[in-house]
Amino acid sequence: MNRSKLFLLAMLAAVIGAIYYFDVGQYLNLEYFKAQQAQLDDYVVHHHGLSVLVYFASYVVITALSIPGAALMTLLAGAIFGLAEGLLLVSFASTLGATLAMLVSRVLLRDSIQNRFKEQLKTVNEGVEKEGAFYLFTLRLVPVVPFFVINLVMGLTKMPARTFFWVSQLGMLAGTVVFVNAGTQLATIESLSGILSPAIIASFVLLGVFPILAKRLLAAVKARQVYKPYPKPKHFDEDLVVLGAGSGGLVTSYIAAVVKAKVTLIEKHQMGGDCLNTGCVPSKALIRSGKFMADVNRAQDLGFSSASAKFSFSDIMARVQRVIKTIEPHDSIERYSELGVNVVQGEGKITSPYTVEVNGITITTRNIVVATGARPFVPPIKGLDKIDYLTSDNIWNLKQQPKRLIVLGGGPIGCELTQSFARLGSQVIQVEMLPRLMIKEDEDVSVAVQARFEKEGIGVRVNHKALEFIQKDGENILICEHQGEQVFIPFDEVLIAVGRAANTTGFGLEELAIEKTKTGTIAVNEYLQTKYANIYAAGDVVGPYQFTHTSAHQAWYAAVNALFGKFKSFKVDYSVIPWATFTEPEVARVGINEQEARAQGIAYEVTQFDVAELDRAIADEEAHGFIKVLTVPGKDKILGVTIVGEQAGDLIAEYVMAMKHNLGLNKILGTIHIYPTLSEMNKYVAGEWKRARKPEGLLNFVEKFFSWQRKENKTSVDQGRNYGSLGNTSQQANVNSTEVKRDSAA
Ligand SMILES: Cc1cc2nc3c(=O)[nH]c(=O)nc-3n(C[C@H](O)[C@H](O)[C@H](O)COP(=O)(O)OP(=O)(O)OC[C@H]3O[C@@H](n4cnc5c(N)ncnc54)[C@H](O)[C@@H]3O)c2cc1C
Repeated sequence: MNRSKLFLLAMLAAVIGAIYYFDVGQYLNLEYFKAQQAQLDDYVVHHHGLSVLVYFASYVVITALSIPGAALMTLLAGAIFGLAEGLLLVSFASTLGATLAMLVSRVLLRDSIQNRFKEQLKTVNEGVEKEGAFYLFTLRLVPVVPFFVINLVMGLTKMPARTFFWVSQLGMLAGTVVFVNAGTQLATIESLSGILSPAIIASFVLLGVFPILAKRLLAAVKARQVYKPYPKPKHFDEDLVVLGAGSGGLVTSYIAAVVKAKVTLIEKHQMGGDCLNTGCVPSKALIRSGKFMADVNRAQDLGFSSASAKFSFSDIMARVQRVIKTIEPHDSIERYSELGVNVVQGEGKITSPYTVEVNGITITTRNIVVATGARPFVPPIKGLDKIDYLTSDNIWNLKQQPKRLIVLGGGPIGCELTQSFARLGSQVIQVEMLPRLMIKEDEDVSVAVQARFEKEGIGVRVNHKALEFIQKDGENILICEHQGEQVFIPFDEVLIAVGRAANTTGFGLEELAIEKTKTGTIAVNEYLQTKYANIYAAGDVVGPYQFTHTSAHQAWYAAVNALFGKFKSFKVDYSVIPWATFTEPEVARVGINEQEARAQGIAYEVTQFDVAELDRAIADEEAHGFIKVLTVPGKDKILGVTIVGEQAGDLIAEYVMAMKHNLGLNKILGTIHIYPTLSEMNKYVAGEWKRARKPEGLLNFVEKFFSWQRKENKTSVDQGRNYGSLGNTSQQANVNSTEVKRDSAA
């Protein structure tokens, strides 16, 4: 704590100490004032200026120190100065005192609280930044939250003192009038509760309802402004029009059709969007072929002296297309038409909040859901426009296997494709400008993935920034910067996998001035509404997660809020979002990891179990990886889980369920898991957690009890020993000794 904070604390302690020492409280009660009222009146008449000064200063001190008595002082102002002067005095004194109290709380507490609860306070801070003045005004107007609590809590936020001052003064004005006015009747009030007469309560209720009405009114006025240029059609063709038939759009229209709404789904390219045609499905099909080759290449691990597989790259790519074709009917026009969705092939354009144009026809609709997805982001690297680069959109059209492939990007898509192409025989160099692959995961995850990649012959170049693509002597070369030096990497093909950009242009959003976020996605509120309350957005075009399952998750909210929002709207729940990267080792996560916990200032304990100890993993020759669980210190509540290893994406489901339904590690430990399966790791890590928290005292006592019992029955015990030991066959013996790391963000 710095010196100025110490000084302030000492001052506060001294003043509060003095107040209690001199028992100032004896004067701060209604009876005392009533008894002294005549003398007070007389004193004020003869020493008016001094009375005003003393009153004002006392009021400021009492409120600044959050000492109980402000309500009484306010009444007193009415009693001794009358309504007008009393109101003036209290209004300024209470605002000044409140601002000082707020500043004291800010100086003493804000930094430490904001640092410690950075992430939890993020939404509060954003709220305060956006609507803080309004909330403070509401709190001031409604005398439900105590005056001093508001001052102290606001001190913890980032609200400027100036805003706090004027909003407080304005917000407290109505309440002050009521109190000071009541004070003018002091002679007739017998106790503090006396001011809560039905008339005064009614006026407070009115004051309380006012901000809610004001907010509703404000929203209605805003909406009127936004919709003003667009006359509402008298008749609507549809309840809902959905743009884009990827996972977001398909699920939205499916839900609408199920609840019997009239819905049109417009797709300009291929039904199923990215996931089916250029994303999850082809990549997973390719990964499977790659995995087979990896198994062939390590045949000796599985007891074969050798193994080989002949293949042509075009056959592998034909298989990828066959898999797409097999899944295609799930997302087809026929299927959705049968479900009751009107599917239109064509490019949709939003022409007003109530109209969408497609193939020259205008459809009127009550609601619109934008689910136009995202596309590969192509960075402006010099020379890139002069070469035929690959992206996740066109890589599936390759007929010939690239001999030397550069993959630019160390994220999930880059990693999955790097390993697949390498396993099929391409010489792959993966270039990443950050210090490690999969930067969103913990460092131990990146280390495990990179080690495996390098073992499989992949050239991983982290800390390499792509500067320029050139062609020299008929050869493509990527120039990178690495530790201040230029590195030249020759290649035949390059895959750009450095992120995905939301599709937000060319279909009417600009004309409607629909806002975008800093990352280029559509800006929506918690209900997925854009600035037009009837235009929603879901999927990759919104983010923040860009997965098929999160698109589908958002689609439910978009559909339900659009169709039933008049009755009830639902805020999107992002509390338990899982995902996986299907490399080998596979990486899956739900909730936070260690680096996020540290960044967000969340205290946690970590328990880890090493997959190398797991019987099934050993039998399968897959004894690598780990499961890491973060828990709330001292509790079994799960904050996040990372699994690295075979089938991590499937295994994490148990923890997704546990987190979603608030089940802790004790519940997982108490659940039977089939032997021998990989899923046992989920239980064993819970066992590790429990073991590290065993009740030592109780166990010492139990040990003594057993020892005493053995002495009591010594003969029979000795006979029992003659059977000899069979060894410990319990599976629990396999629970490894991974230490429980205790860590705290503090
Ligand atoms: C290589 C790769 C691998 C992936 N692997 C996985 C994975 O394993 N698991 C996972 O969860 N996610 C994965 N993803 C991400 C996943 O594919 C996306 O998150 C998901 O497809 C997003 O769905 P969406 O509906 O938001 O958008 P999209 O699927 O992109 O669909 C948007 C659709 O809108 C259409 N459209 C755009 N504009 C218009 C318009 N004006 N009018 C009409 N139609 C329009 C487009 O043609 C497109 O079909 C992967 C992505 C890639 C690229």
